[in-house]
Amino acid sequence: MRYALVTGGSRGIGRAICTSLAKDGFYVIINYNSNTEEAERTLAMVSENGGSGEIMQFDVASQEAADKALQAWQERNEGKYIHVLVNNAGIRKDALVMWMKNEEWHDVLNTNLNSFFYITRFLIKDMLVNKFGRIINVVSLSGIKGLPGQANYSAAKGGVIAATKALAQEIAKKNVTVNAVAPGFIRTDMTKDLDEGQLKMMIPMGRFGKPEEVAAAVRFLASDEASYITGSVINVNGGLYT
Ligand code: NAP
Repeated sequence: MRYALVTGGSRGIGRAICTSLAKDGFYVIINYNSNTEEAERTLAMVSENGGSGEIMQFDVASQEAADKALQAWQERNEGKYIHVLVNNAGIRKDALVMWMKNEEWHDVLNTNLNSFFYITRFLIKDMLVNKFGRIINVVSLSGIKGLPGQANYSAAKGGVIAATKALAQEIAKKNVTVNAVAPGFIRTDMTKDLDEGQLKMMIPMGRFGKPEEVAAAVRFLASDEASYITGSVINVNGGLYT
């Protein structure tokens, strides 16, 4: 049995990742922050797809909360470890820099970037000891190209991309790969306030993506077939220039 932790697995892209990893036989640990009902729904979908798993509440922006939940999991599951970590939880709080409040900057950096550090550092130890692991970071077109109104989000996602490349080189010899998947515009709760009709005109494929289309790339990177891919960023954006 292989274990996968998906942060932000209760909704959107994270939920699609949980169900697609379930199809590959993973035991899926579904992290979420506040939406227990939706996390339970994801767990039911994991079961419907032939998998098993559990839900795990903690705020990824809090090192203390992450350490406590992961430590407790390790104590309950002696001799087991998490083989695949998908750092997916994220938020956006858009504002022009001139008007951006301190908390809009810090909340987005804490949830999207610092979480990567807290959770990855905790879990890589076991991956290194066992000489197998997969770390997959869900980043964004915004972190590659930069998008106006998203300096906080672009900085956070760009930071994760750079950390992906650095960490990949640190631990490649131990058979632990580190990659990123960069979605463009995907139809989820995160994008429901955007003007899809207007934005899709910029997208060569003429539509927003589906969460399952991002999950397919994550599923591949988590698989044995992706064993020689590390430090890469896979764009899933319908042909938007990156
Ligand atoms: P979403 O529908 O808004 O779902 C966000 C998920 O993250 C939820 O499961 C939420 O849990 C969880 N979450 C948020 N803050 C958290 C925290 N502090 N601790 C733990 N979990 C937290 O978002 P999405 O569109 O699926 O986005 C998933 C990832 O893809 C994010 O990293 C996002 O930046 C990235 N992305 C999305 C798009 C897009 O177009 N949708 C494009 C590029 C990149 P609760 O249910 O408990 O709130």
